[in-house]
Amino acid sequence: MNKSVRKAVSSVPLKLSWRIGVPIYEKESIFKELIAFLSKYRKIVDEVAYFETITHHLYIPLDQVRKRADLLRKCVSAMKASGVPSVGINVLTTLGHLNEAWDFVTPLPFQPTVGHNGVLSKGCACPNTPELREYVRQKYTLFAKAAPDFIWIDDDFRMGNHGAGVSCGCFCPTCLEMFSDFSGRKFSTREELIAALNKPKGNKLRQDWIENNVRTLESLGSDIASAIHAVDPGIKTGLMSCGTSYCYDSAEFAKFCAALKAEKYRPGGGFYSDNQPAVMITKALDTARQCDEFPPEIKECQYELENFPYQTLNKSRATLINECTLALAYGLDGIAFNCLNSTGDSNLRIREPLMREVRKARPFWEDIAAQADGLKGHGLWLAWSRSMLGKADLREGESWLDSNWGWKIGEVTDALGRIGLPMSAHRQGAAVTVLAGRTADTYSDEELRKMLSGAVLMDGSTLEVLERRGLGELTGVRISKRWDNGVKERLTDDKFNSQWAGCVRDARIEFWGNAIGLGDMLEPLSPKVRVLSTLESYFDQQFGPCMTAFENSLGGRIIVSGYAPWLFLGSEAKREQLQNVLDWATHDRLAVRIEETVPLIPAVRLSPGKDRGTIVLLNAGFDIIEEATLHFRGPDIPVKLVSPDSKKRQLKTVREKNGWTVKLKDFAPWTVKALLLG
Ligand SMILES: [Zn+2]
Repeated sequence: MNKSVRKAVSSVPLKLSWRIGVPIYEKESIFKELIAFLSKYRKIVDEVAYFETITHHLYIPLDQVRKRADLLRKCVSAMKASGVPSVGINVLTTLGHLNEAWDFVTPLPFQPTVGHNGVLSKGCACPNTPELREYVRQKYTLFAKAAPDFIWIDDDFRMGNHGAGVSCGCFCPTCLEMFSDFSGRKFSTREELIAALNKPKGNKLRQDWIENNVRTLESLGSDIASAIHAVDPGIKTGLMSCGTSYCYDSAEFAKFCAALKAEKYRPGGGFYSDNQPAVMITKALDTARQCDEFPPEIKECQYELENFPYQTLNKSRATLINECTLALAYGLDGIAFNCLNSTGDSNLRIREPLMREVRKARPFWEDIAAQADGLKGHGLWLAWSRSMLGKADLREGESWLDSNWGWKIGEVTDALGRIGLPMSAHRQGAAVTVLAGRTADTYSDEELRKMLSGAVLMDGSTLEVLERRGLGELTGVRISKRWDNGVKERLTDDKFNSQWAGCVRDARIEFWGNAIGLGDMLEPLSPKVRVLSTLESYFDQQFGPCMTAFENSLGGRIIVSGYAPWLFLGSEAKREQLQNVLDWATHDRLAVRIEETVPLIPAVRLSPGKDRGTIVLLNAGFDIIEEATLHFRGPDIPVKLVSPDSKKRQLKTVREKNGWTVKLKDFAPWTVKALLLG
């Protein structure tokens, strides 16, 4: 172990935090049990955060809030006295999440959020009225007086995704007036504003609307920070958010954190049960993506382990260990466990097996966190940007806030990640840029040219955008015909297809909903374009190219995949084709390649010199992997293998051209291991 790694180990950047629901602290007898329970597992309790309410409905009368704050003051103090180093309050509602318990709660006494369709929320308030701001100020003041170490602002700190038809807010009279002032254009009714936002040439207005949302949240955040810090400037604040798919809120999380003076951040995303275990990969990567390019003021990023609504059988312990491992592997440095709430009397004892599992995994997680500390992800980076929705080009007849923008964030991660290509959450240091759907719309020509001077993998929808922008030539091809049914792909005898020349990939594109853009035939614009696949009908009529590779005048190596680019890539033939062409596109800079067609998912973090890092591997299949060969392109460095069940041991590597290989044996289904490099 070299010096720099030893230094990292001594300041392990891993925090395990536990979110505590009202039912397990409200009654004194149960609270005592909670203290005893957490004391028993002190080694994995770095932090405790109390929820302040049981409901996602915003409004609780202030006299009730005051009583809750009084109780929390005692609970914070008692928990700290029991030895937990960091104890705080998780304020569940700032604006309200959705309509909940409306027959039983006090209705909102101020302006509700109005959706773009005119729907009025029952549980969520407009963020811009003075009445709401005053309520928020008083509420946060009361919780600050409970003397917590920190206060979380939960993820209802948002303008949209408020359920029950209120997906995009707020279009109330106050907000219309504010926006008229901001944009310099008078809008007297919601309908008038929506019509203007839906004009194809309304880009400036749409960007203004998103910017206005950003400013609203910044101003609300600033009010919250002032209220808390007027009581005690030492109380840390933390922001929770929904994921990148909710681009209506612009995903300007660093700006919101700055307004809140937040040092803590919990990225969002939904993964609640074992029903579709592979969703853990998408969520873990997306949470790390949300934290990319954060300023140093944000000192910790906690992944939320969700078990809402807290039923043991919804999520197995193995899933919990796997998903937390992936989150740490992709770039987070803490876990907020949301699994201890109970819905009745005390039954914390049923969580004992889970706590033991986490206790066993902690040294493993610390090894990963220490070894990867400060390192960027390595691999394929899916292009996305903050405030994308505002920058998107609208076509004639499209409705801006009703469109499924399909940034394809989930689909691309699932398709490419599941075949063992290393995916990275971080733009800096990525070996390949992936451009999908209409994301290219949201970048300037200059940014696109920069991307196109490196290795790029793109789909037909991106090619269409580039053609509109006059950049199509840099791809070497243009779309010559588009099918949405009846076509399949055949691999050519290009050497990238190695032993698989002539193999067919049939994704049955009609089966999977809207297939537009899934069967694009490409016309080469240069004799230097290499054709890797051609299209044909189910009835063997032969058409032209659908997958190409081309080195352009900027030196960029561009792969265009016109046929089902983000769907069913799991065959031996397709996987090897992609691996080979990506090796060419990156000049063999992609550091990790797994030889066998096995469901081994690598999450890679590497130093620029590739002499320090981690490769965390998940067997995302139900078969044991008897043997897998991992090729690493980089210097010859010590490699250790570690897992939650075993101690670190040195692995024997075999030198090969540009790097080394290791053999991994008997990898059990749905388990994780990590290689510690350097
Ligand atoms: Zn409003």
